[in-house]
Amino acid sequence: MDEKELYEKWKRTVEMLKAEGIIKSEKVERAFLKCPRYLFVEDRYKKYAHVDEPLPIPAGQTISAPHMVAIMLEIADLKPGMNVLEVGTGSGWNAALIAEIVKGDVYSIERIPELVEFAKRNLERAGVKNVHVILGDGSKGFPPKSPYDAIIVTAGAPEIPKPLVEQLKPGGKLIIPVGSYHLWQELLEVIKREDGSIKIKNHGGVAFVPLIGEHGWRE
Ligand code: SAM
Repeated sequence: MDEKELYEKWKRTVEMLKAEGIIKSEKVERAFLKCPRYLFVEDRYKKYAHVDEPLPIPAGQTISAPHMVAIMLEIADLKPGMNVLEVGTGSGWNAALIAEIVKGDVYSIERIPELVEFAKRNLERAGVKNVHVILGDGSKGFPPKSPYDAIIVTAGAPEIPKPLVEQLKPGGKLIIPVGSYHLWQELLEVIKREDGSIKIKNHGGVAFVPLIGEHGWRE
């Protein structure tokens, strides 16, 4: 499939997500159209990149399904200039979408060195310059660039990691799947109030690979 065909199929996926009410905002639609998923998968998977399902990436991990990424970005309601941390870089796709919406620097942390390299290569090829990929345990957040307006975690945790709440600005939001190790969690929106307390909204069942680290699951 050539690039033109890949893009046509991708546009249809975006239209479908809009028709289903999953993509709600213009900013998420624009980011999806600017950063198609096929730029963030290995060549052999490009022809499936428009299908609304997760796909394999190296090191036994996955790039999330387009609807899942759209749901998280709509909940995040990001605005230009926001300081955002993503935990679980994987392919770099979600980080590229975030960067497109905030129109500035994004920090994304990944624990597997092979994926740090994979994401950096994908981002470079896609011409995305303002995503900073860091190797490390994102369950501890990334204190040097905190506090954050939003932290988006794309792996499932056993509970809400305290350091992530601490690294949010008052009024900031943490979006994180919390639940069991084996692919079943609830997608939580954790809002930090001005007084430092938290309010939690549950957005329902999701299936992510585990967040492995000091404040996640143990290997
Ligand atoms: N956001 C990614 C994308 O756009 O391709 C998909 C992420 S994939 C579903 C989850 C990622 O989280 C995996 O790459 C995994 O290695 C990573 N991960 C798991 N535990 C982590 C941790 N403690 N810190 C950083 N990354 C972690």
